[in-house]
Amino acid sequence: MTLITDSGDRLDDLALDLDGRLVRPDDADWDVARTAWHLDVDQRPAAVAQVASVRDVSAVVDAARELGLTVAAQSTGHNAAPLGDLAGTILVRTGAMRGVEIDPDRRIARVEAGAWWADVTTAAAEHGLAALAGSSHDVGVAGYVLGGGASWLLRSHGLAANTVVALDVVTADGRARRVDADHEPDLFWALRGGGGDFAVVTHIELRLFPIASVVAGVLFFPLERAEEVLQAWRRWLPSVPDEVTSVGRILNFPPLPDLPPQLAGNSFAVVEVCCQLTEAEVDALLVPLRALGPAIDTVHVTPMTELSLLHMDPPGPVPGIGDGRLLHALDEDGISAFVAATLAAGSELLSAELRQLGGAAGRRPADGGAVASFDADLLMFAVGITPVPEAVPVVRAAIMSVQEALRPWWTGGSYLNFAEEPRTPDELFGEETAARLRAVKAAVDPTGLIRSNHPVR
Ligand SMILES: Cc1cc2nc3c(=O)[nH]c(=O)nc-3n(C[C@H](O)[C@H](O)[C@H](O)COP(=O)(O)OP(=O)(O)OC[C@H]3O[C@@H](n4cnc5c(N)ncnc54)[C@H](O)[C@@H]3O)c2cc1C
Repeated sequence: MTLITDSGDRLDDLALDLDGRLVRPDDADWDVARTAWHLDVDQRPAAVAQVASVRDVSAVVDAARELGLTVAAQSTGHNAAPLGDLAGTILVRTGAMRGVEIDPDRRIARVEAGAWWADVTTAAAEHGLAALAGSSHDVGVAGYVLGGGASWLLRSHGLAANTVVALDVVTADGRARRVDADHEPDLFWALRGGGGDFAVVTHIELRLFPIASVVAGVLFFPLERAEEVLQAWRRWLPSVPDEVTSVGRILNFPPLPDLPPQLAGNSFAVVEVCCQLTEAEVDALLVPLRALGPAIDTVHVTPMTELSLLHMDPPGPVPGIGDGRLLHALDEDGISAFVAATLAAGSELLSAELRQLGGAAGRRPADGGAVASFDADLLMFAVGITPVPEAVPVVRAAIMSVQEALRPWWTGGSYLNFAEEPRTPDELFGEETAARLRAVKAAVDPTGLIRSNHPVR
């Protein structure tokens, strides 16, 4: 690789050439430009390229290659923590590219790489259509689908990565390429679940589904009843059809003025449900859980645009750390271990949850990508807020204590999107898939110009 010695001049040229902006450490908006959704991730790249077009992405990749720098793509920074040291990297931020086009006849959304899920769900809902969106309105479509994508329709429709029909990308050679089942099939396979290590994605085309609403909501119980409630949820799971995706969870709401007064500063054991059934069918299904007498019951017919409120994720960027693992089904001892460890962690954790897998989430489609299903029954995730740096080790220890308590039920695997700490490729993908992903990486990016939060080698 030829290195240009006067990197300042080359970056000046790049800045002039972009439709978007190149922000550098001396610029007034440097701190805003480098901030991730996870506010406590202190990103210090060589420069931030706020790209506005495919041409911009190619220009940044070419400049990085000439300067001996690397490139990391980021839409929102929801999973910024594992990226690590960014010195020597141009951070490509796609936030200016949030366009969404819906083709209602083909039921396809064409989405720019910086789009949030809210952009897609709102546009699709105008046509009575729905995508396999993340739980939160501001999660980036790109990172989410590249990593797999576990939506509220996970057990009925499988992973969101399986709905990708094509991607437009810029590879390490600066070339814009169309990637689908017939063009660059190895790259198409890798980008569906293998993460963002292979190319900078500029557009994604996704299948949509004719779903206008679901029956969804939360059953809240006092925290003291966590063991009883989550054991009942565990016993209830085998009776649940694939049209239902549920979460068992312990939540400690901080005492914030914007939260409803009945939630602020209070702790609960909750069961969240999203059902593609009639209200009467849901009422029948929920009998054993409602028999426990929830303090609050919000289950109601929910338009798809409202579904992003169900999981009660933070409305915007926060300082916090989280991490998750894939689990086998928990028996009585497993639930007791989860409850005991989460209660012991107390308010250091905002939330510890168990997402129900199985159904379509466990069935690998024949034409699936690198990660197309989960060989697990539950997905655990624990998260805490870290308003000051001293909170980081405390919250990390709390998360690890819950993971440690569940070790006997751990499958040995992790889900890329819920891994907010570095992981080995073998743990994320399994040995065979990790080896195939490394081969794709070697073919499309032999010098490692493109970096991701979960590199495959
Ligand atoms: C509050 C919250 C709620 C969540 N809910 C869900 C959920 O319901 N289901 C679920 O499955 N996950 C969920 N997640 C996890 C989420 O899917 C991951 O954090 C995902 O990485 C977010 O994608 P992003 O683009 O917003 O993040 P970013 O941090 O911007 O990107 C993460 C990685 O994706 C890759 N990437 C992003 N853009 C590009 C691009 N243009 N080209 C190439 N690579 C790119 C890069 O490797 C990057 O490091 C949630 C996370 C949070 C914090």
